Amino acid sequence: MASSRTSDTVLAPYAAHDAQSRGRRYSEPPAAYRTEFQRDRDRIIHSTAFRRLVYKTQVFVNHEGDHYRTRLTHSLEVAQIARTVARAMRLNEDLVEAVSLAHDLGHTPFGHAGQDALNECMREFGGFEHNLQSLRVVDELEERYASFPGLNLTFETREGILKHCALRNARALGDVGRRFLERRQPGLEAQIANIADEIAYNNHDVDDGLRSGLLTLAQLSDVPFFAEQRRAVERDYPGLDPEALAREVVRRMIGELVGDLIRSSEAAIADARPEHIDDVRALSRPLIGFSPPFVSAQSGLKQFLREELYSHPHVRRMTDNARETIRVLFEAFSADYARLPAKHAARAEAAEAAAGRAGAARVIADYIAGMTDRFALNMRERFEGRIGD
Ligand code: MG
Repeated sequence: MASSRTSDTVLAPYAAHDAQSRGRRYSEPPAAYRTEFQRDRDRIIHSTAFRRLVYKTQVFVNHEGDHYRTRLTHSLEVAQIARTVARAMRLNEDLVEAVSLAHDLGHTPFGHAGQDALNECMREFGGFEHNLQSLRVVDELEERYASFPGLNLTFETREGILKHCALRNARALGDVGRRFLERRQPGLEAQIANIADEIAYNNHDVDDGLRSGLLTLAQLSDVPFFAEQRRAVERDYPGLDPEALAREVVRRMIGELVGDLIRSSEAAIADARPEHIDDVRALSRPLIGFSPPFVSAQSGLKQFLREELYSHPHVRRMTDNARETIRVLFEAFSADYARLPAKHAARAEAAEAAAGRAGAARVIADYIAGMTDRFALNMRERFEGRIGD
């Protein structure tokens, strides 16, 4: 058994070991001073798509305030949570970091509203899925290296990025798509990054929701998990002011969720007794997961946010405008490819010649998905003639 080391911890035998990686699409000599997964992480951080995340919406549109999460800070929080879990479980911290930082690279401007709108625009042309788009970004769309397209990441990082995938798309993907057809699991590092994403957004959306005033402490106290942590904070720090109370509750919720995730996943692993990452992959159910009380804690938070924050009239106004922006842009580019930058226009022409309108539509979707919020808004204004042109 290979015994790779990470952060002074010997990896568990069923972790993703560098030496057992299924490799890159284009073979490359190993890096001199880094593991394969460190190299993946570094390529992700140096990508253009990563830098754009700072100007993409998580829930609140980027220009609404300087303290709200953006997709970049969200991705950093996911990585931080995932690394804690991975290290505690003797799993590969470099790999969970790479997957976490890359998981939203394909996200459109304007958060979920943007992705839903683009999916609608693309309905006749194969649809739009942001997970799949993240994979497309690292496999094809990033242009940085002379010897291959995309970032040429390892199979394990690509496997982790593709969290969900429609079956028709999975068929076209080959290696990373296969597990969806066979209903199998990815490695444990990918499973951790997936749940770390949920822990991060549920908690930071509560925090941002309170900060914005769209949510109140009184409302949140109807959520049993929040109420329980609030009682504990009030016991430890009587008379805390509401802002400090909220911060402390969120901090404890993350701590409780992470602690349960580690304990409950360790127990599941002890039962399943995998000896190799391929034993994990062969299972029909994930091994990383919460115990039943924490499954309901997590889903209680999620449901509350869906009802009270994501559908709040203020957020709705933002999302309606976002949908309209994506639709205007998609129609404008579809009507005249010359409105795209020259390189993309040439690609759209070539794709149309090769694959008809669906080919050109994909080039347009790629271009729109890559936009930051403000770039998309400025471009819409230009098309609508509000600022000269
Ligand atoms: Mg995410």
